[in-house]
Amino acid sequence: MDSTAAERRHRAFLAAAQLRYPWQFRQRGRAGDSDPVAVDVPPGWYGLLEHLFEAVEQTLPAAEHGGFRWRRLRSRQGTIEVAYDGVRESVSPLVATARETAAVTCERCGRPGARREVAGSYAVSCRRDYLDRLLDRHPGGEGGARQWWTSPQPGLGGRSPATMVQSGGPPEMLVEQALRLAMPATPRLNGAHRQRLQGAWPVLREALGEGLRSLRLAEFEPARRRGATLIGLMAGEADASAQAAAVNRLARNGFSDLRLRLVGQPDLVRPARAIDPWSCMLAVEASVTIPRHQPTLPPFAR
Ligand SMILES: [Zn+2]
Repeated sequence: MDSTAAERRHRAFLAAAQLRYPWQFRQRGRAGDSDPVAVDVPPGWYGLLEHLFEAVEQTLPAAEHGGFRWRRLRSRQGTIEVAYDGVRESVSPLVATARETAAVTCERCGRPGARREVAGSYAVSCRRDYLDRLLDRHPGGEGGARQWWTSPQPGLGGRSPATMVQSGGPPEMLVEQALRLAMPATPRLNGAHRQRLQGAWPVLREALGEGLRSLRLAEFEPARRRGATLIGLMAGEADASAQAAAVNRLARNGFSDLRLRLVGQPDLVRPARAIDPWSCMLAVEASVTIPRHQPTLPPFAR
């Protein structure tokens, strides 16, 4: 869908909602000082918002309509941001349901999806749309992506990705190929970088224990000063609370420029199936190992 068509569809969605539930979209403020409701959501989430508007209509008694209005409905990095004025108790469970639904609903098409990263940006995507997002990062640009899409490939039994998708959903293999193509350059570390990064080993060991098997660095471009991704390879599954503790420890020890991602070693075999395919493929294809122990320097080098 081109951007004008998308915009038209967004306006139609909003106009229909305002017409049906005008009290939820009232503008606050005096004339000349209006404060319209900020709505910026992708089309895959229109349906769950329509449910939310209807649920609020059903739940709030008419007497409470006067105090209620939406203030913001936006998508931010794969989560839905909802702000409103008025009664909390009855509306907040409805909003929570909408958030939970959004977390598993593809932002572009509304089919089941998961929140996935592509080069630092997050969105909830079904497999087909995740593939599309990856192709946006194709090193050959739009032309390169189109060519890849329509060219028969030996790895696909002589078929093109386009024909594979037409015959039912993009197989894992396509997602994996697209991930590989979208990978950034493998970082090059100089002695000073390496020495500093080795300092992260004891910090993470303390937070993650023996489960931490190796550390790798990716997405590191010193000239652009954007920080880098530190990947901790874990023997088993990576759990969220251990990850949060490790992130805190890194920040307290002067490594707040590093984005930590924990990846389970078993996932490396099939990155397209992992919870975090982007980081998995970074670990496999586009990262360097940070050695565990600082090498003992010979006396003349000190
Ligand atoms: Zn989709």
